[in-house]
Amino acid sequence: DRLIAPQPLPREEIQDRAIRPKLLNDYVGQPQVSQQLEIFIEAARKRGEALDHTLIFGPPGLGKTTLANIIANEMGTAIRTTSGPVLEKAGDLAALLTNLEPHDVLFIDEIHRLSAVVEEILYPAMEDYQLDIMIGEGPAARSIKLELPPFTLVGATTRAGLLTSPLRDRFGIVQRLEFYNVADLSHIVSRSGQMMQVSIDEEGAHEIARRARGTPRIANRLLRRVRDFAEVRSDGRINREVADQALNMLKVDLHGLDHMDRRLVMAVIDKFEGGPVGLDSLGAALGEDKGTLEDVIEPYLIQQGFLMRTSRGRMATALAYRHFGLTAPATLLV
Ligand code: ADP
Repeated sequence: DRLIAPQPLPREEIQDRAIRPKLLNDYVGQPQVSQQLEIFIEAARKRGEALDHTLIFGPPGLGKTTLANIIANEMGTAIRTTSGPVLEKAGDLAALLTNLEPHDVLFIDEIHRLSAVVEEILYPAMEDYQLDIMIGEGPAARSIKLELPPFTLVGATTRAGLLTSPLRDRFGIVQRLEFYNVADLSHIVSRSGQMMQVSIDEEGAHEIARRARGTPRIANRLLRRVRDFAEVRSDGRINREVADQALNMLKVDLHGLDHMDRRLVMAVIDKFEGGPVGLDSLGAALGEDKGTLEDVIEPYLIQQGFLMRTSRGRMATALAYRHFGLTAPATLLV
């Protein structure tokens, strides 16, 4: 397990739940998303309607599930949570839909992984609050229509491009989450520290934040590991020095890169002469799934300027050579 993996580690979701912001006011950063949602939610409430169906996309750990829960809290409704791969049969979704109360939120994580049959059920449900479902088989089969209460579907996905266009078109609100800047992540670390009753000063929070890959889930995880270090190796208080020592011991470097990032960038440099190299070849060279490289590992490397995405494939940048103590080829320096 990578310490800086953006997905939750085992048991982590339970720990995270306790420090998860419940209202928009506590949701740090993402100003555009917060401001827009605040208005949409207030307007829907004033009209006494369910909020429009909302699609949230962005890399793992940036706060999609948190936002879905906040929407339900702000609307004063309940939330039911499921995910694309869990909804195998049309009946699975039908059971959830028929149990909703008016204005409830139905949250479907990884909505791009819905099966085609389940997606078909979703279209009339989203559009007309109607459930069209076949019961029985063969000559006895018949279709029944059920009215559903007005509800809000909140869908989350790591990549909006993977959604079919009929599904995408049925969302009235589409929000994209960006990686967080260091100031916002520092704020999140300080806030989590308070809730976890950890003593941490501003510089300590900043040191954790800048190595957290723009991702709140990773920031909170690093905070827990640094707290362990502080309790065992010093007096439990976290300052810059303690955070730095702990993170060095955990092999999270100054940019938040770990051995997987190093492997990927070094493969581009060593095995493919700096690129361009296609994701398929890169995946094969590293023994990693192409989807994992694309969804999980490379977004942060690209965002930080270590890797470039070109029409002919991925290339290592001059910054990547410098970061790993190598001399960049002359062609990159012009
Ligand atoms: P995702 O669903 O995008 O994978 P989550 O919503 O589960 O991410 O967020 C992971 C954790 O990060 C949450 O438990 C929450 O504590 C924290 N978090 C996410 N976004 C924010 C934010 N804007 N402000 C404060 N904490 C956040």
